[in-house]
Amino acid sequence: MALVGFAACTVSASAEGPVPPEASRVVAITFDDLPYASDRSTASPDAAIAAQRQIVSARRRARVPATGFVNEDKVQALGPAGPRLLTEWNKGLLALGNHGYSHFDSNDLDVAGIEKEVMKGEATIRPMAASSDRSISFFRFPYNHVGDTESKRMAIEKLLASHGYKLAASTIDTSDYLFNSAYERAVTERNKAMMQRIERAYLDHSRVQIAYYGELSRKVLGRDVPAIMLLHANRLNAATIKPLLGLFRSAGYGFVSLAQAQTDPAYSAMPTVATKFGPMWAYRWARERLIKVDGRREQEPPAWVSAYAGETS
Ligand SMILES: [Zn+2]
Repeated sequence: MALVGFAACTVSASAEGPVPPEASRVVAITFDDLPYASDRSTASPDAAIAAQRQIVSARRRARVPATGFVNEDKVQALGPAGPRLLTEWNKGLLALGNHGYSHFDSNDLDVAGIEKEVMKGEATIRPMAASSDRSISFFRFPYNHVGDTESKRMAIEKLLASHGYKLAASTIDTSDYLFNSAYERAVTERNKAMMQRIERAYLDHSRVQIAYYGELSRKVLGRDVPAIMLLHANRLNAATIKPLLGLFRSAGYGFVSLAQAQTDPAYSAMPTVATKFGPMWAYRWARERLIKVDGRREQEPPAWVSAYAGETS
């Protein structure tokens, strides 16, 4: 979705070399827009609490690490429930990360504005992590917008380093926010059949995207790199987290933390690609290496899901 107009910019040289045989694969699971991603301006604390409970307990039972990226304004919007929900993400295999104060678009801000977002984004999570002898190591940009010009990209790289952050990468995107918009509508309309239909379509699409992005990374880098799954803390993922994790298991993946995943040399530097879009990392690596990939081969979510999500109920 976010790479419209991006794949067309890649040039020359096709991917070289054979794809190596299937190795032991790993994935880091990440959730954005904590404590709760909602379409509505005021998220209901009840929905947030219920969704969080499902995500955290399914993950804990499955013993799967995950990092949750927080928007401070969403913490505040939930009142006392906001910080309470985050404490669950500050222990055991779960870790907190910074996603900015608001869900800002770095394309629209200058570097001073971006720095303000980064610092104000720490208000709850930094002291919370420190109180348990933890630190906040990762920053993920909303929309994965990490510099629409080369000078801004370089300034962002410097800015993150000066605040002690690593840039959180993303390698698998399933447009879960779109499926969730449709799901939210079905929930509002109490349309159980539609809810189940959307869950099935979402899992089908996720299975295809997991395979697609794994293949794309192998094509571009010539090997398996630890995958990083981009999800949102929303109602749909709460309902489907168990089968979603099962999709990775069926595809031969084991689970690692984001910190473990990003020890791979592929993540040692931020891709040196300026773009106003938010493509997954394999597209950035391809462009960096002048490897031609055809983003049109990537499957779009079903048209009926987009239509249902977009229609007003
Ligand atoms: Zn986000």
